[in-house]
Amino acid sequence: MSRDPRYDVLFESVRIGPVVSKNRFFQVPHCNGMGYRDPSALATMRAVKAQGGWGVVCSEQAEIHPSAEICPFIELRVWSDQDVPMLARIADSIHEYDALAGLQLCHNGMNAPNLYSREIPMGPADLPVFSVFNDPVQARAMDKQDIRNLRKWHRDAALRAKRAGYDIVYVYAGKLFGGPMFFLSRRFNDRTDEYGGSLENRARLLKELIEDVKDAVGDSLGVGCRISMDEMIGEEGFHAAEARDVIAHLGEAPDLWDLTLSSWDNDSQTSRFADEAYQEPFVLGVKQLTTKPVVGVGRFTSPDTMVRMIRQGVLDFIGAARPSIADPFLPEKIREGRMEDIRECIGCNICVSGDHTASIVRCTQNPAMGEEWRRGWHPEYIRPKESDSRVLIVGAGPCGLEAAMMLGRRGYNVALADRGKALGGRLVQERRLPGLSAWGRVVDYRAGQLAAMPNVEIFYDSDLTAEDMLEFGFNHVVLATGAVWRRDTVSRNMLHAASLMDAEVLTPDDIMAGKRPAARDVLLYDDDHYYMGGVLAELLAGEGFAVTLVTPAAEASSWTHNTMEQHRIQARLIECGVTIRAHRTLQKAAGGRATLACTFTGRAEEVPCGAIVLVTARLPRNRLAQSLRDKSAHWQEAGLHSVTVIGDALAPGTIAAAVWSGRRYAEEFDTTPDPDALPFRREVAELLPFDLHAVLAR
Ligand code: ADP
Ligand code: SF4
Repeated sequence: MSRDPRYDVLFESVRIGPVVSKNRFFQVPHCNGMGYRDPSALATMRAVKAQGGWGVVCSEQAEIHPSAEICPFIELRVWSDQDVPMLARIADSIHEYDALAGLQLCHNGMNAPNLYSREIPMGPADLPVFSVFNDPVQARAMDKQDIRNLRKWHRDAALRAKRAGYDIVYVYAGKLFGGPMFFLSRRFNDRTDEYGGSLENRARLLKELIEDVKDAVGDSLGVGCRISMDEMIGEEGFHAAEARDVIAHLGEAPDLWDLTLSSWDNDSQTSRFADEAYQEPFVLGVKQLTTKPVVGVGRFTSPDTMVRMIRQGVLDFIGAARPSIADPFLPEKIREGRMEDIRECIGCNICVSGDHTASIVRCTQNPAMGEEWRRGWHPEYIRPKESDSRVLIVGAGPCGLEAAMMLGRRGYNVALADRGKALGGRLVQERRLPGLSAWGRVVDYRAGQLAAMPNVEIFYDSDLTAEDMLEFGFNHVVLATGAVWRRDTVSRNMLHAASLMDAEVLTPDDIMAGKRPAARDVLLYDDDHYYMGGVLAELLAGEGFAVTLVTPAAEASSWTHNTMEQHRIQARLIECGVTIRAHRTLQKAAGGRATLACTFTGRAEEVPCGAIVLVTARLPRNRLAQSLRDKSAHWQEAGLHSVTVIGDALAPGTIAAAVWSGRRYAEEFDTTPDPDALPFRREVAELLPFDLHAVLAR
């Protein structure tokens, strides 16, 4: 297949100081929850991006000194020469596939609570740290010696980056992560010396750091500056006009400008709240302020949008974090003209939750993300079949689709059957909910891939029974039959079913199937805490129902803090007129009234309620598995070797977990995993020489 020449512009080389990127695809720094804990897994993940054609592949933030570390979040460290081999492994792996390796040097300043190092954080002023958990830690105002030290630490870290083999280093002043941003922003910087006051003064530290790093390594490494274009809180924060003035002032100092929004929640907005290229208004015109190349992001997945960004002079590089996670081979697919193979990011921010929970990055669209080294999974390739087994997969939700696609890719004969008329399982309905249409890409990508596989047959309207399955003569039956929402209050905070008497009760399945409460007053009880409660409240409020969202949590959709959406969801619900009653459980309902109990005191209160929508928990749809197992005496004559339940039918979870489960089935098919072996590789840090008595001697 050949590429459409209009995309050629994306494959032009671009100079970044002394180094040259082979194309305009720039994987900007992104966190991943692996960092110093999982260096080989991280190196492999980055190498896959390079293999997939990104011209530049950057690290996440690499903390340059223990005076700024953001424990419990797991990032890279450049604290001493001890870190160089780990950093070198990452750079070397990226170089294996002909990409430039970038290291995002970072001193978090007063973003860092230093819970691990216990050093006192530093910033422009004596203020509480600006950290995720409102830690009871204050930063102290930096004096001139602190500034001299900080400049030296940046130089030292840049020299270590050079020794580790990197091509690009960053000075980071973005997203209220990079310490110099606190100097730029007036609301944090009340200094009266030459580092405070005028914009020139507030930008002085950033200018010095760029000059220092250039002086240290600029002869052979490109020096990038990452800066936020707006805090999005109006004039009080660092805003667009100021950002432009800083760039005009420092215009030629770095070799590259990397533009973001601040904070991270504004930079990486979900598809529920922002469309592709949402940062365009903030970066437009920056190129006129500097001759240096400019990289920007905006969940770019469409090659046409990318071309427009270049042709219209908005950007020089197409920056991507999430699109490179969802499809590490995005550049390669565009280069080869394989547009239909692009696995587009759905903008769900499950990837972000990996960093926020200090676990490992995961992706709804790309189940191999984070598993490249641990489990040997690749986003594009899978080993060929090892037998001529025929596989029946029942259920064409995210899990069944992924299992069918990957087994099909391995070359097996697969039948995918669903009782419905469309592919997608839960997503057939969920993609129609407010703000979730982009989630349909999970289905569309897989449906497109399956359509091109002659060895996978799809059967619709097939409500299969155990007898049917035994008749068909498949060697393996996989049940990806999903889950149903519970019709009672059993979930996290209450493990018993409240008495709801004569109340009209609906579940999310009912609402998604088109059923609506008879009454106008709706009590939506959310003990699930992810997106469903908030989305249904928004839907019903939009249709004119008077919705009260009751939740035992402190806020609506509280887990979405991990996807950086909670504040937007809560704001939207308030704007739609939804009443939010936090810290309440639903105890009972009768005669048009519900009794709620305070989660702290147990004190009860009565509220009117016409109908109740329960968003509590889900039950696996696994009856078919049981009836097949009941017939195990007939398996042999039917040629059936195994029956396996996967995805939501095994244990209901996120869409990402269902896709991952389908992938796991396809990966492990025709193997016999050892139940006593660890299911994945892990890296154990090397032990230092140890003299217990010397340490404990008085
Ligand atoms: P997952 O998230 O694990 O992929 P879903 O709930 O999204 O699960 O999808 C399950 C799919 O299985 C649904 O499309 C449902 O219609 C289908 N299904 C469930 N039971 C049967 C059955 N007995 N025969 C055929 N299809 C079934
Ligand atoms: Fe995109 Fe969601 Fe994957 Fe993140 S987890 S890269 S937002 S599809």
